[in-house]
Amino acid sequence: MAHHDGRFAPSPSGPLHLGNLRTALVAWLRARSTGGRFLMRVEDLDRGRSRPEHEASQLRDLAALGIDSDGEIVRQSDRDDAYADAVRRLADLGLVYPCWCTRAEIREAAGAPHADAPEGAYPGTCAHLDAAARAAHEERGRPAALRVRAEGVRQSAHDAVLGELSAVVDDFVVRRGDGGFAYNLAVVVDDAWQDVGEVVRGDDLATSAPRQAWLAEALGHAPPTYLHVPLVLGPDGRRLAKRDGAVTLADRAALGEDAVAVRSQLAASLGLCGPGDRPSPEELVARFEVDHLRGVVPLRWDPVAGPLV
Ligand code: GLU
Repeated sequence: MAHHDGRFAPSPSGPLHLGNLRTALVAWLRARSTGGRFLMRVEDLDRGRSRPEHEASQLRDLAALGIDSDGEIVRQSDRDDAYADAVRRLADLGLVYPCWCTRAEIREAAGAPHADAPEGAYPGTCAHLDAAARAAHEERGRPAALRVRAEGVRQSAHDAVLGELSAVVDDFVVRRGDGGFAYNLAVVVDDAWQDVGEVVRGDDLATSAPRQAWLAEALGHAPPTYLHVPLVLGPDGRRLAKRDGAVTLADRAALGEDAVAVRSQLAASLGLCGPGDRPSPEELVARFEVDHLRGVVPLRWDPVAGPLV
């Protein structure tokens, strides 16, 4: 069986909840069950929302579940030089252009997008400005974001469960007007640099896979394959969140449930054990196959009936 070198890449903007933990468990099981490496990356690109105490609690919770990782933990806040390099490479290839649009302008102009373009796609307003229009924007002094020039190309990415993910790539942002690097850029640069073979993450990001695969190719990297895991939803059908009650490991511990019990519930929700069993991490690794994810639907968490099963 092919090795799947994987990773978990949480943003340290709050404690991990049961949905994040289930995705982490799947990512770890997928890597370990195929003899692959498992890497940790702290996605603290958003300096305003990232907190060291959240990073510490996230890493503690993963360790408590038995999720170990290989090598040094990578932090995106240490990687600005690599992101700047990648933007320079794209600029050299003529694959970025400055964009002065405000969010409101994009919303307005996006009324009549490209027939095939994804929802929320950039309508291309700044893609073909002439020199005079550019100079006028520059004179006004508002800093420009940088967008890729994807020319409405269609791109596929491969998902181990969902199959071919194919979409038109819009001209997404790689560097914001304030100089900060965008998630889509950082994730592609880091997955390539860490040699991640398969990206396992929540299926809310499945629509980003074609964009990211396109960017990887543009930067000269073989894109990873993907495995998007169905999210855990709260009782209201929205993605699980703090508002849904006792959804973190600390919340569950306060109710008398230890990390092993939570891991078992997560594993039971994937069909890896029965309710009430307490398999070890090694037993879970031995049992896990990607087929466990086929037919796994977004899971509704019921705070009254109990978590996840
Ligand atoms: N940092 C992202 C999040 O916490 C995940 C990005 C990814 O896995 O590609 O939602």
